[in-house]
Amino acid sequence: MAVDAVIFDWGGTLTPWHSINVEQLWWTVCEPHFPAAEVADRAAALHAAEQDLWQAGRTEHRSATISQLFELAGVRQTEALLTSYQGVWEPHTFTDPEAVVLLGYLRERGIRVGVLSNTMWPRDWHDEVFRRDGVLHLIDGSVYTSEIDWVKPHPDAFGAAMAAVRVTDPGRCVFVGDRPYDDVHGAQSVGMRTVLMPNSDVPPYAEAVPDAIIGSLAELPPLLESW
Ligand SMILES: [Mg+2]
Repeated sequence: MAVDAVIFDWGGTLTPWHSINVEQLWWTVCEPHFPAAEVADRAAALHAAEQDLWQAGRTEHRSATISQLFELAGVRQTEALLTSYQGVWEPHTFTDPEAVVLLGYLRERGIRVGVLSNTMWPRDWHDEVFRRDGVLHLIDGSVYTSEIDWVKPHPDAFGAAMAAVRVTDPGRCVFVGDRPYDDVHGAQSVGMRTVLMPNSDVPPYAEAVPDAIIGSLAELPPLLESW
């Protein structure tokens, strides 16, 4: 097999896609921690800050952190707020059962497994999710953009992911993701093969034509074997 490494996006790829009302989520986060009259304003400020930071990611490919989000929103970041935030997101973090099988398959064949996620969350949170779901030990290297300056599709994000799984030839890497622009266009720009697993809410990007399209992660092994 002419593949040394498979690098995965996280949300909507290793986790099943969920349509999430993020504004409502922020309200649920804030509700226990602020007087009733302040909840709506705090939630709106946090939501607006998050939108602004994701917009900077889309247009300038700049990364951000959850702490920057709170700072931009003018809301003091407390452990209690972060705990509530993680709690409301938890239902959306569970690893696709097909991913568990797939990562085991790749490990058995000596194909390195990487993760490259556009995320504001710290590494600890992601590691804990993977540990809970029994896959942390199957991941050879991961890059969370909260730890670097750029987000996908910036080439440096993909370079960091290759370094994390200790591969040097992008032509022997496969990138699997659900976003045509961030994932497919980004990985193609550095010379990786790309597999798109499309989701309904993700904006199209016509210039990005993946090497393959799959409907579920279980379709990946036969594809890799054909390469
Ligand atoms: Mg995704």
